[in-house]
Amino acid sequence: MKGMARCKEHFEIIKFICEDHSLLCCSECLFIHRKCKHVNKVTEQCKLHLEEYRSAQASLENSRARVHAVIEDCEREIENINNNGLKVSKEINVHIDSIIVMLNNTRSTVLKEANTKFDTETQLLRVRHSTCKSIEATIAEILPLYSLVLKAGTPEQTFILTRMFKEKIAHVQHEVAKQDETPCSIRINVEFAPEMSALLKKGYSIVSLQMNYNSFEKGKKLIDQ
Ligand SMILES: [Zn+2]
Ligand SMILES: [Zn+2]
Repeated sequence: MKGMARCKEHFEIIKFICEDHSLLCCSECLFIHRKCKHVNKVTEQCKLHLEEYRSAQASLENSRARVHAVIEDCEREIENINNNGLKVSKEINVHIDSIIVMLNNTRSTVLKEANTKFDTETQLLRVRHSTCKSIEATIAEILPLYSLVLKAGTPEQTFILTRMFKEKIAHVQHEVAKQDETPCSIRINVEFAPEMSALLKKGYSIVSLQMNYNSFEKGKKLIDQ
């Protein structure tokens, strides 16, 4: 207490107060403030302000309690913010992970379906290709001889040859007619559900953060679920 009661500039004991400058003064200071109008002795002033001191003390005690409460609120809230952070990242991860899983499953299912269809169609084309190769071979076998006989042979020879080739010619005609009826190409296009393009258009904004400021909730702890 002794140190507190001394002037910080002159290290003399404080004995006066200059109300004009709201300054505690020692004898040295008093000389500087000699022209001030309201310079009083501390011994006289201290008796006048007892009520003021008590109220200042009560106010300090009240402030201490309030500040202490805010300190506790801040400490709890820092912990709450950490838990809130964990909760936010958990929520984002759970949803985005399940979207990624869904998209990956969709990709493999759809690609598998398309590849199965391509395989089936390729297989059908191979069968068709070999059927046509065989028809081509049959034609190559009978056509030169038939043309030659038709051009240079006798009517009897033509008649006999036509009878001999009758079944083969009918088979060729039947197979060729079948080819004309069968469609020959497949094209697969990818079409996404309209919701998908709406989602892509949204970009980063498919997820947003909702922020709410609240007053401190006494003792309320946010538990990471
Ligand atoms: Zn002084
Ligand atoms: Zn003064």
